[in-house]
Amino acid sequence: MRRLSSTLVITRLSHLFLRTLRDDPADAEVPSHKLLVRAGYVRRIAPGVYSWLPLGLRVLRQVERVVREEMDGIGAQEIALPALLPREPYETTNRWTEYGDGLFRLKDRKGADYLLGPTHEELFTLTVKGEYNSYKDFPVTLYQIQTKYRDEERPRAGILRGREFVMKDSYSYDLTDEGLSQSYQAHRDAYERIFTRLGVKYVIVSATSGAMGGSASEEFLAESEIGEDTYVRSIESGYAANVEAVKTIAPAPIPVDGLPEATVYDTPDTPTIATLVDWANGALDRTVSAADTLKNVLVKVRQPGGEWELLAIGIPGDREVDSKRLGASLEPAEYELLSDADFAANPFLVKGYIGPKALLENGVRYLVDPRVVDGTSWITGADAPGKHVVGLVAGRDFTPDGTIEAAEVRDGDASPDGVGTLTSARGIEIGHVFQLGRKYTDAFEVDVLGENGKPVRPTMGSYGVGVSRLVAVIAEQHHDDKGLRWPAEVAPADVHLVIANKDDAAREGAEGLATALDAAGLNIILDDRKASPGVKFKDSELLGVPTVVVVGRGWAEGNIEIRDRFTGESREVAVDGAVAEIVSAVRG
Ligand code: ATP
Ligand code: MG
Repeated sequence: MRRLSSTLVITRLSHLFLRTLRDDPADAEVPSHKLLVRAGYVRRIAPGVYSWLPLGLRVLRQVERVVREEMDGIGAQEIALPALLPREPYETTNRWTEYGDGLFRLKDRKGADYLLGPTHEELFTLTVKGEYNSYKDFPVTLYQIQTKYRDEERPRAGILRGREFVMKDSYSYDLTDEGLSQSYQAHRDAYERIFTRLGVKYVIVSATSGAMGGSASEEFLAESEIGEDTYVRSIESGYAANVEAVKTIAPAPIPVDGLPEATVYDTPDTPTIATLVDWANGALDRTVSAADTLKNVLVKVRQPGGEWELLAIGIPGDREVDSKRLGASLEPAEYELLSDADFAANPFLVKGYIGPKALLENGVRYLVDPRVVDGTSWITGADAPGKHVVGLVAGRDFTPDGTIEAAEVRDGDASPDGVGTLTSARGIEIGHVFQLGRKYTDAFEVDVLGENGKPVRPTMGSYGVGVSRLVAVIAEQHHDDKGLRWPAEVAPADVHLVIANKDDAAREGAEGLATALDAAGLNIILDDRKASPGVKFKDSELLGVPTVVVVGRGWAEGNIEIRDRFTGESREVAVDGAVAEIVSAVRG
């Protein structure tokens, strides 16, 4: 651990404001949450709202320090904006409304609307607009490490998903697209250094389908079973992406010449894919699987400010619609499933037997999975109860309005980069880099004087790191069943020195050792409590300082013990020369 100030004193457990708990808190499900509470790092105040106690605050400050060093390292400049913000800028960008229930809104005594900032694109843009007005001022990158507020629907796992949390947010302003790419790349590189220093195992996933130009948005996900984000990757190529961003590889079109004609069959009681496949395997002289059927799923879609419209989605019957992928494909429009009333209002929709024909004849927008290429032949609904059509060929018998990425992605699907197959895994979002472009500079009409005397509108990037979330993420990735195991860079101390011998001489010796280690520049927690060695050892494991030093029975023979909390290894060393041994154990 690097010292935060030169005046740190030895932390005595007899004095430290700390109460460790033997039992897991009742509301905790994930290891990091249980351990951070049990080890007295954080305490719950309300759902998603936590206090930081001394050791927790130290770890948080260490994470902040690493983030700050790397941000300063790319020339970003730290400022601090308020968390309490007026409504107007968020009204200008429509986020006052768009943010929905996620925003904490409040009124002042005069009845004016305020909010607690969930993210600060508006305010940074206004701040830059207020100070800078010439091309000579650019590029500029500003950041803050600040408390954010979001009224999350499901606060979770203690500080992992809080309603009050600490974020590093930075914003770059460039005059050219090239400049924006450079600022983006600088952040991406800085994030890699940050997460590596913090000892976090992570992957970088493309967050959008690349419609905005490839690397317009990427997320850093910490690898974790308990993560809420599912991503897929190809072990063979290193490709990784959010499920929403996966593009299906479309097969090559098939010539339609010579394909059998479409035929309608009576298929009583076959409203599901399974019943339809059973029927086909009995009635047709070939083997049919769900992948040979075309399932048509109906939703209604509304563009912002628009009317509800029907949308039909055709996907191979062996796949389900993935609601997240569908939502991402339709954005910014919203969608809903059809109600019975909607079906009643559109009698051509025959539940269980919907086919492309009726959809297209009735002007319903019809988008299909990219696998439904021209020349593919399908078994699908014939728009009458108990009837299906066999051999309906895309591009010959029906022409959809386009394709949509809405079908689920499955393990074993081909990787979009053409190398290997996809496997899914879970992660926790710890950082996000995003090329925003001119959305906010347009909204606030930020124009600066260009080199040629004409006005130029800066283009913007926005970049976030979940600082408080990282404390939980590090705990999640670095613990065992006994407790936390902090990487050196963020540990609340370098050495946890346990006095496990009641003799006055040993006690004094331990005090002397602590003083010497402190003088050598190490940060020491000294367990000088009047408690049993067993209790002290348990606490040392729970608190998770990387190096534990024990002054115990061996003292009489002139020995102390050094334990490595990471590897679990322990060894005896002579008291003479112990300081040098411990310093080298800590500094590695
Ligand atoms: P998530 O999908 O996890 O809600 P987000 O997409 O809303 O994250 P951003 O708006 O990009 O996140 O915020 C930047 C970073 O702030 C995230 O990468 C994440 O690490 C962190 N963060 C976001 N929401 C929370 C929260 N409720 N509690 C703690 N950290 C958060
Ligand atoms: Mg969020």
